[in-house]
Amino acid sequence: MTTQLQIARSGTISDEVKFVAEAENADAALIRDELAAGRLVIPANKVHLKTNPSASLRACPEPVEGTSLSPVGIGRMLKTKVNANIGTSSVRCSVKAELEKMHAALAAGADTIMDLSTGGNLDATREKLLAQCPVPFGTVPIYQIIEDRGVEDIDGKIVLKIIEKQAKQGVDFFTIHAGVLREHLPLLENRVAGIVSRGGALLAKWMLYHNKQNPLYEMFDDLCDILAEYDVCFSLGDGLRPGAIADATDEAQIAELRTLGELTQRAQENGCQVMVEGPGHVPFDQIQYNMQIQHEICHGAPFYVLGPLVTDIAPGYDHITSAIGGTAAAFYGASFLCYVTPREHLGLPDADDVRAGVIAAKIAAHAADIARGLKGASEQDKRLSIARTNLDWKTHLSESLDPQTAERMHRQACEKIGAKGLASADYCSMCGKAWCSVRINREIREAIRSGGTA
Ligand code: SF4
Repeated sequence: MTTQLQIARSGTISDEVKFVAEAENADAALIRDELAAGRLVIPANKVHLKTNPSASLRACPEPVEGTSLSPVGIGRMLKTKVNANIGTSSVRCSVKAELEKMHAALAAGADTIMDLSTGGNLDATREKLLAQCPVPFGTVPIYQIIEDRGVEDIDGKIVLKIIEKQAKQGVDFFTIHAGVLREHLPLLENRVAGIVSRGGALLAKWMLYHNKQNPLYEMFDDLCDILAEYDVCFSLGDGLRPGAIADATDEAQIAELRTLGELTQRAQENGCQVMVEGPGHVPFDQIQYNMQIQHEICHGAPFYVLGPLVTDIAPGYDHITSAIGGTAAAFYGASFLCYVTPREHLGLPDADDVRAGVIAAKIAAHAADIARGLKGASEQDKRLSIARTNLDWKTHLSESLDPQTAERMHRQACEKIGAKGLASADYCSMCGKAWCSVRINREIREAIRSGGTA
């Protein structure tokens, strides 16, 4: 039984560590050391790694049937990563639509995918998605645990069976809401939004009905055995995450975080890789504190945050509210941002929403990587700036985070003013030719260089 954590602890540099080091231009020994210390994870289920051995560890995986995993590292010494949630609901379930969303997310640059399906045939949906997924793939097994049964009817046997089944399928990381305890529930009394996590709410209902402790907490060591066997990474879920800024950093959230800290150590002692999930809705000024206490309580395990959304009043624009919070979170301590789409709180996202959500989260992650001085983080910015200054539209557009949108907007603007084309236009419709400061600057520079007048 060997996990990436155990291999790193033995001092060995695994093929997956080497792959991540090459992909990120980072030192493999340092990645190994961070992995061994529990400050970095490489979610890589052995089954997903071996889906197609001949294509294993390839650098540019194509989204085709039988795709193997290209490992991704998550930790502070690496680039901040972005997750895209997809998945059916009980009222909208089409595997085709979910595949379309997954490919839209991958094309936009998502580093990982989570399947949060709750409608239709969950096993078949997961199998189809996993077969075409070249990046780490996560699920929330509690969603399937309650499939076809009332939450009251869950028992330990069912929990272990479902978790083992998904591990065998090749899922790379599981959100496990083991930190929501019975004694935390009275702390929710004064909350504005109560429990907004689906997993947290289901487990709270179970605990109240049976008057027993959270079964995921009670069976945690058994879960560790399964996750260690396949090397599925724990993503310790925050079932009590605040769902309104008024509830941020409250007693319930911190009490659960303390349990997550305890579980982080227990899982790592069992050889499992662990990351910890975080809030939620958090005012901007509380984000730094939230990152600091997570780091202290959870022993530096990679922090995976949903948003955080810095205001509650922007339905339709929550990819923006979460990107604002995401930059702050990644600057102060998070390693992994879960995207939020413009459709958040309003309905199930479609492929366009997914794309907008991934791009917003990528911007947030990249802005934080620049601000924290990550080696090489601003190189693309420099290339784009030079192209912009030279009115080199081709490079300007291709170096942008979303070339497709940038090219479309520029082309449309050019068409409106009858400009000749992307490559040759020496201004755009924003300021017009006479007012184009970039063009004027170029003339000034040329004049200075030749010692003449502009
Ligand atoms: S016209 Fe204005 S926006 Fe367009 S390239 Fe020139 S300076 Fe930039």
